[in-house]
Amino acid sequence: AAKGKGGNQYYIYDKSLSEKQMEALILINQLRNAVDHDELTLFYQPIMNTSTGNIVGVEALLRWYQPGHGMIGPNTFIPLAEETDLIISIGKWVFRNVCAQIKDWIHRGYDVKRVYINVSAKQFQEKGFLESILQALKEAELPPKYIGIEITETVIIQDIDHTIELIKKLKDIGISISIDDFGTGYSNFNYLKEMGVDEIKIDRSFIAETTKNSKKRAITKTIILLAHQLDIAVTAEGVETKEQLEFLRESSCSKIQGFYYSRPVPPEEFEKFLNHHIR
Ligand code: C2E
Ligand code: MG
Ligand code: MG
Ligand code: MG
Repeated sequence: AAKGKGGNQYYIYDKSLSEKQMEALILINQLRNAVDHDELTLFYQPIMNTSTGNIVGVEALLRWYQPGHGMIGPNTFIPLAEETDLIISIGKWVFRNVCAQIKDWIHRGYDVKRVYINVSAKQFQEKGFLESILQALKEAELPPKYIGIEITETVIIQDIDHTIELIKKLKDIGISISIDDFGTGYSNFNYLKEMGVDEIKIDRSFIAETTKNSKKRAITKTIILLAHQLDIAVTAEGVETKEQLEFLRESSCSKIQGFYYSRPVPPEEFEKFLNHHIR
């Protein structure tokens, strides 16, 4: 609710809020159609080994191609989808689509190692989540080792018992678990280790500061060191410059991802990238 600052201001605040809500409603309806009308698409961004420069994986990132509006990024529509059940059907679409894509790549001789898929809290907590992944894998006749799941720290601290159980089941079948945007939440290493997390992805905000801010540099170095001592892998997100890459190399960060190597690109363009790097 608005603070009691006087009737006029209250009115303006209230009105703009409802306008925002209207826009959100419209967007949600359009998004509902998007799922049915094939307007969703996936871009792929390579994850590289810091020392060898080889591809060690790839992250699938959702895009919405809305006719008349062009390409819309997930930050615009994922939060809205999360407020409704739409995130569940979108999530299922993503898993089906990624599995089919990997199968096609394997079939055509591309070695993509592992594809990392972002999963929202609501998806992760939904009862049929594991079942829907198994279904998507089965449809594509794909071994689970090709899939990695990215969740955030907020997801793992929400329903601890459920999370531990689900992570164990996912890992038992060969799916890896990464903590996305690491450093922005409240989890600790002890916790992550006990939960069986395979990897942390250090948030872009840390990487951006490493070459400017000596404190951020020290924190990043320490995170990497601690993770490795616990046998947790580390990917640095949002690597844009050679300077950042060099710092991460020095700090023994094993994997990096960012515009320095490639932006997220459509599958055909990603294949070109693969051709240059491993064939
Ligand atoms: P994320 O999982 O942390 O993904 C990384 C984001 O950073 C992506 O934004 C990517 O394009 C961007 N990025 C990568 N390298 C760089 C860089 O060097 N510099 C900068 N400035 N940015 C870089 P994008 O694609 O807009 O995705 C935003 C977020 O949307 C993702 O953050 C993820 O949380 C969510 N998301 C994306 N796809 C899905 C999906 O299929 N399902 C769900 N539930 N969430 C998704
Ligand atoms: Mg991610
Ligand atoms: Mg991230
Ligand atoms: Mg994220």
